[in-house]
Amino acid sequence: MSKALNTLQQYFGYKQFRNSQSSVIDCILRGKDTLAVMPTGGGKSICYQIPALLFEGVTIVISPLISLMKDQVDNIKDLGISAEYINSSLSYKNIKEIIEKIKANEVKILYVAPERLEAADFCELIKSLNVSQIAIDEAHCVSSWGHDFRTSYRNISKFIKMFTKKPVVSAFTATATEEVREDIIRLINLNNPKVFISGFDRENLKINVLKLSNRFSYVLNYIVENKDQSGIIYVATRKEADNIYEKLLDNNISASRYHAGLSDEDRRKNQEDFVYDRINVMVATNAFGMGIDKSNVRFVIHYNIPKNIEGYYQEIGRAGRDGEKSECILLFAPQDIMTQKYLIEVGTQRPERRVLEYKKLQTIIDFVHHNGCLRSYILEYFGEKVSDDNCNNCSNCLSEGELVDRTIEAQKVISCIYRMKRDFGVKTIVDVLRGSAQKKILQYKFNELSTYGIMKDYSKDKLSDFINTLISHGFIDLREGEFPTVILNENSMKVLKNEVKVIFKEFVKAKKISSDNELFEGLRNLRREIAKEEGVPPYFIFSDSTLKEMSVKYPIEKEHILEISGVGQIKYEKYGEVFISFIKNYVLENKITTSDTLNRFKDGNKTKTFEVTMNMINEGMSVNETAEERKLTVGTILNHIEKYIAETNNLDFNLDLTGIVTVEQENNIKSVIEEIGMSKLTQIKAKLPNDISFEAIRGTILKNYKN
Ligand code: ADP
Repeated sequence: MSKALNTLQQYFGYKQFRNSQSSVIDCILRGKDTLAVMPTGGGKSICYQIPALLFEGVTIVISPLISLMKDQVDNIKDLGISAEYINSSLSYKNIKEIIEKIKANEVKILYVAPERLEAADFCELIKSLNVSQIAIDEAHCVSSWGHDFRTSYRNISKFIKMFTKKPVVSAFTATATEEVREDIIRLINLNNPKVFISGFDRENLKINVLKLSNRFSYVLNYIVENKDQSGIIYVATRKEADNIYEKLLDNNISASRYHAGLSDEDRRKNQEDFVYDRINVMVATNAFGMGIDKSNVRFVIHYNIPKNIEGYYQEIGRAGRDGEKSECILLFAPQDIMTQKYLIEVGTQRPERRVLEYKKLQTIIDFVHHNGCLRSYILEYFGEKVSDDNCNNCSNCLSEGELVDRTIEAQKVISCIYRMKRDFGVKTIVDVLRGSAQKKILQYKFNELSTYGIMKDYSKDKLSDFINTLISHGFIDLREGEFPTVILNENSMKVLKNEVKVIFKEFVKAKKISSDNELFEGLRNLRREIAKEEGVPPYFIFSDSTLKEMSVKYPIEKEHILEISGVGQIKYEKYGEVFISFIKNYVLENKITTSDTLNRFKDGNKTKTFEVTMNMINEGMSVNETAEERKLTVGTILNHIEKYIAETNNLDFNLDLTGIVTVEQENNIKSVIEEIGMSKLTQIKAKLPNDISFEAIRGTILKNYKN
């Protein structure tokens, strides 16, 4: 086994490297300058931490995230790695002590803020040390094209030049654009670097774009449905953040907020409440999030359209860092485009920059109107070639929701606009449709129109949301300006003439992201208690994915808990036995039979191996994943499911056949079954193309013909 993999397993408890991690580490270990571009949550830190552990001497990590440095360092110290940080929060005495520790070879990783590189005395001290690697986190901060430009990043190249024996330099970013990449190489002065660009897909993130008529009630519903989960709601402005935050509090939701209008102290406290799981939902502007590596963020909702795809992808990247299923929901309302344009107008001074920002805004507007796979759209934006245009995990590919015919309501709105003759804003149209007796309405004699008051059953908010939804679907247009007005277009006339129907997809009920089992809940509570005692964020102890794996595999032996991803040697020594004893109790109380319990308790029961399989299936694992995890064939897993049905008569489960049968094949199989019934497998198989396997047919039957 390679040294790097050994280190990954020993310290981090992960069983294998993710996509390009291993090649990046290899390159750094060979002493070659490296630039690695990976999506947020892709696993950059390990790429410099593992070489740091394997090199002699110290690795200096330059990171802009001063407020998070302590957490970052505590987190890796918790894994048994000797790390320290130096930033403006420490006294000179503290710094001296740390330097002494480094000199004594007691520190492997030192985090520093870029501003430190300007201090001559600091540089002098560092020069005398054995520095093996300089890792630059968030390297796009060096570029003025990037969104987080930091002047002090421009000192990095001078800092590196100062060493007589040049350390290997590694730079990391999630920003994929060409300009930024070139800037990083040039301005940090990387020496003929090897550049790695990882695939940008984050498969565990479900991407949804919804055009809804009542955003807030959807969000509220969603949060209530997922009440124990952590999530972020991004909004465009501070005012909106305050507004949503207060509405959530009124509805007894455990929420906090974060934006540049709050004091440093409030921001620090609110962020900490979120990271430590003291509150569940964070309402924030885009000021929130850089470097938040809380791994159990289960959803990211964009209440307003973000300003560009880069920002959007970085923000949704904060969901599901632990690799567990997570959801990203962008709620599109056309009036928000106006807010973004306003922000560009007032916030951007340089004209060429303004043009660029408008262009970028347009790409996200195109994204929300895109009819194809949303994931492919993003990946192609980042320059990736996508072969399959159906990801099966975005709102377009899944076409969820209920289709509702809104033609009559739309005709009422359109004919009212038509009759009003001049252009007005949404508010005035709403007033006319609701039959308001306001001065302006009477002055224009709108009360004499046949459409006056024909929608008075609608609340103001609901009606203006409906009109905005008509705009977002292109049935009417919005003319921009200081006072935006609504105008009719070709489509509007077609609706009036009954030539096209207005069909909206409506999400009646927000769904749960995933169903958690009882043991998982128990383990989460246990984690919360330990975290509280130790004063660390719960995800430091074990990530959600680690707990989830425990909750389906029931490890009650040391060697088995060490096989769970995320349980390394040090973690085991610290927490292993507490978790084992909790799981043991659970297993005993619920009379669960696993290979571990069999060995340990020797109670003579026959192993109900199908129960283990069904636990995994009920956890949302696909049949394929279950087979892989259990090192069994797909056929055996299907046998287990049949056995389970035979023994329990329970049909309350869902099957995910990803990787076994495609949607098209499934439909094909179904139509053959409709024709000849399902009892004769070989006959069904004979009528289908060769590439459809017996497993595919059996799986399709188990999935679709339960009742
Ligand atoms: P980013 O690229 O955004 O800096 P991080 O380095 O914070 O991402 O990693 C994201 C999460 O993924 C962390 O919780 C990390 O521990 C986890 N992770 C990284 N590499 C692996 C791996 N090989 N196997 C499992 N989890 C990993």
